[in-house]
Formats: sequence, structure tokens, C-alpha cells
Amino acid sequence: MQGLMMHNDLLISDLLEHAVTCYGQQLVISRRLDGRIVRHRYEEIAQRSRQLAHALHALQVRPGDRIGTLAWNTHRHLEAYYAISGIGAIVHTINPRLFAQQIEYIIQHAEDRILLVDASFIGLVEQLLPRLPSVEHVIAMTDWKDKPAGERWLCYESLLGEHPPHYNWPRFPTGTASALCYTSGTTGHPKGVLYSHASTLLHAMAACRPDAIGLGPDSVVLPVVPMFHVCAWGVPYAALMAGSRLVLPGAALDGASLAELIETEQCDVLLGVPTVWMGLLAHLRQKNQVIDCMRRVIVGGSAAPLAMIREFDERHGAFVMHAWGMTELSPLGSTNTPTPELLALPKEQRYQRQLSQGRPVFGIQMEIFDDEGQALPHDGKAYGRLKVRGPWVISQYFRSEASAIEQGWFDTGDIASLDAQGYMRIVDRAKDLIKSGGEWISSIELENAALDFPGIKEACVIGIAHPRWDERPLMLVISTDPGLDLQALREHLQAQVARWWLPDDILRVDELPHTATGKLSKMTLREHYAQHYMDPAP
Ligand code: AMP
Repeated sequence: MQGLMMHNDLLISDLLEHAVTCYGQQLVISRRLDGRIVRHRYEEIAQRSRQLAHALHALQVRPGDRIGTLAWNTHRHLEAYYAISGIGAIVHTINPRLFAQQIEYIIQHAEDRILLVDASFIGLVEQLLPRLPSVEHVIAMTDWKDKPAGERWLCYESLLGEHPPHYNWPRFPTGTASALCYTSGTTGHPKGVLYSHASTLLHAMAACRPDAIGLGPDSVVLPVVPMFHVCAWGVPYAALMAGSRLVLPGAALDGASLAELIETEQCDVLLGVPTVWMGLLAHLRQKNQVIDCMRRVIVGGSAAPLAMIREFDERHGAFVMHAWGMTELSPLGSTNTPTPELLALPKEQRYQRQLSQGRPVFGIQMEIFDDEGQALPHDGKAYGRLKVRGPWVISQYFRSEASAIEQGWFDTGDIASLDAQGYMRIVDRAKDLIKSGGEWISSIELENAALDFPGIKEACVIGIAHPRWDERPLMLVISTDPGLDLQALREHLQAQVARWWLPDDILRVDELPHTATGKLSKMTLREHYAQHYMDPAP
């Protein structure tokens, strides 16, 4: 028997109008590229979104059209999110840190009709435009005076000025596509993940919950994670749904600029990848500065090291909440919530628990499988391929014929364990695990152990070919200590991991390569060091 309830298609424009009705005076605080802070009430953001919706309509944008953005976290980018999805078109956020050829490929693949571009990326787009036949207009997200000349170029602020602040948002089914994000594509071409209004709104509801990101009208939320990386983990939607004050950091993501913004605006919920927090902590350490307004620092994208969890807690009284997810999951899959049981543990024990990527957020189911497809026990020890399902998990990549689902599950490509309380721990990316003499070594655990050694700023472990053991680990470290004692580091590692896990060699380097989403680019390093253990005299 069917339930007898109203069928009402929820849309992203409904979220915007709800935010205005309930929290119209709440603020979006945005740092412009020139460093100036601007403040807009939700009411004003919505008016400007509606003006942009009119403008896009006037430019003949039709439902389903892709509109690309190359932009930082700013109020204009936020307005664009709502305007584009609101009219039934698709906001395609492009990661400007990708190689120019990849950006060109992505825009061609998506067939973007219009691009919205921040001043920082105008040069890049001018270069690419001759090879982007689908792009009819480029809207510079600037004032009129900064807009480049050329017939395809338009000015964001001038366009808005030409249109009224009221708009009748169209109605359409909630399964309609709303946003498009490409995965970072460390192997092969980037692949598009196409979100819908329904998946985005369900994800936002789950993200707001106290046991997920935990947002309410009293939160001041700072997404340092870019709006071009999985829609800033859904915060632009979740924050407005919860009526939170939203602080957008623009292009200045270094430690000093973030510290200033966090302190001035009293941000209490912060989200970003570990590299960003390493920069912030290094700055605060150097200035001997303490920031006490940070309540929750949400870390995802890569594993949060123990040293970071400890430093945020001991120096700043901030709880590091580990979150795990991926582009294909919109991205939120699990969070390590500060439950009363966790907070009651002795500190060191608690930090160890915080290393886990947490438990699934409501809506996501997880299971681990061996290579034969058998489900593995949830004993915190067995590990295998992590598979997930849920209403904001991908079913098919954009413009691909094949399904992304196998027997009801999406294979994340991560290797993880699950325990009896539902806690998940990422052991490694499947392709980064190191197989030594038939046994597995986790590169993440070795990196974590190294990061706990004084002076180590960044650590990376890769598996490379070895004449006797097939593969052995090689560790590369960046240290702030000019007299780094590699033997002492080796002894420190030995106290934390099995002896046969110890890297055969540890190299000190000045720099490590990163992908466009801030992850260590292990593929590049594996290629570079491929012969390191094979050469007769390494
Ligand atoms: P992306 O689609 O670029 O967001 O990358 C997703 C991948 O990042 C996941 O499949 C994981 O391998 C990794 N990842 C995300 N969050 C975490 C985390 N908290 N700890 C370890 N790895 C993570």
C-alpha cells in the first residue's frame, strides 16, 4: 500500500527562498580578491541570484545547459550556484588548479555554454577560449572596469544591474541535474559526477545534522575547502539551510590570512584538507598565537595526522572532526562525531579514536569486501574494498554508457576496516597500498607515524619495485629541522609499526608534488623513484 502524502518536488531555489524567509538578515561574509571584506544579508544574496537568473535567461540559457565557473569561495560564486541551478541549468564548477589541458578537456566534455570567471583566471580563459567552441559568453566576475575587451566577454555586476530582484523560479522534477563536478583524474581523463536537486538537498540535510557537520543559526562556518572541489563539501547549501553565518575566504588561503579571518569573524566550524590546517597551525605556532573560537575543525580529503588532532586540541581547544567522502558521494560519507563516550576518554586514547574516519552519516550504507566479493567481518581488524550506497552516491558518470554500480554498491577504491560500533578506518587508497613479499603495508599509517616526529612538516610513503620483495616502501619527508636526524626518525617509526613495515630508505626533500585537490601526487613520485631500489647502488 502506498503512503498518502503530498508529492512535492523540492528544488534548490526552495532552499534559497526558505533561507530568506527564515534568516533573511543572516550574513554571508566574503573576502574579495583585493582583500576587502564585504557583507551581504541572505536577502541581498537572494536578490542578486534572482538578477543573475534573469540575466542568464536573457542570454538564452535553457534547462540542462552547463554553465562553468572558475572561481574562489566568494559571494558571487554563491549567487551563481543558486541562480544557475534555480533556472534548471547545471552549475559546472571547474578546478582552476588542474593543468590547462585538463581544464580545456573538461569544458569541451561538459560543453559549457557560458563561463563565469574570477579575475584571477581571466588570463587562463583568454588563452583557452580559441579552443572552446561551445562557450558563447564569458562573464567576468568583476566590476565593469576590470572586464577584458572582446565580444564574448560580459561583466557580472553590469549584467545584474540590468535586471529586477524578483524572479519566478521555474518548477521541475527534483531529480533534475543541478551541478557537475569532475574528479581530479590522477589516472586517465577526469570523469564528471552529475548531482541532482534531490541528491543535493538530501545531502545538505544530512550535512547540517549535529552528528555530521553540525550547523545551526548560531554557527559561523568557514569552508576553506574550495567551491570548485565537490561544491565545498555541500556547505553553500547546508549553511543556508541551517541559517548559519557563512564566511567565504576568497583566494587568500595561507595561514596568516586564515588566522586573521577566523579571529575577526569568530568562525567556529571550519572545513578543509589537512594541508590547509598545516599552514594555519604553522603560522599560529610561529606567532605564538592562540585562537579560542574554533569549535570544530573538520578535516577530509586526506587522512588527518595525529599531530594535527593533538595540536588543535591542546593549543586551541578545537575538536578535529575527521570526515571522509569523495566527489562521487557529493561528498559526505562519514564523520567522527564528538560523542559523550568519545569525549570521556583519556586524551591520548581519544586522539587515537579521532584518527578513524568515523561512522556513516544517515543515508549512507557502507560495507567492506575481499577481492572475491565476500563481505568481511566488522571487527576493526579485517580490511578490504570499501563499497557504499545511498541517495547521494553516483550511479553513472556524466556521458558514460556504463553503470558505476556493481551489485547495488559503488566501489570507492579505498581500502578500509569497520568495527562493531560502525567506525570506519581508511587503510589506504587501493592503488597506494604497498605489497611487500605478499603482505600489505599501509602508506597512511607510516605517514601518520612520521608526522608525529618533531619537525616533520609533510611525509609521503610510496611502494616501489624491489628485486626481492616485489615492492618496498620509500619515505619522503619535508622537515623544518635543519639537523633532522634520520636515524632517530627511523627509531621513532620502529616504535609504532611492525619492523618489516619500516621504509628501506628515507629521503629528505624540499617539496612534494600535490594534485589539484591538495592530495599527495603519489603517481608522480612512483614514476620518479621507480628504479630507486632496483639500481645496483641506490
Ligand atoms: P575526492 O573525490 O577528490 O574528494 O577524493 C576522494 C578520496 O579522498 C577518497 O576516496 C579517499 O581516498 C580520500 N579521502 C577523503 N577523505 C579522507 C579522509 N578523511 N581520510 C583519508 N582519505 C580520505
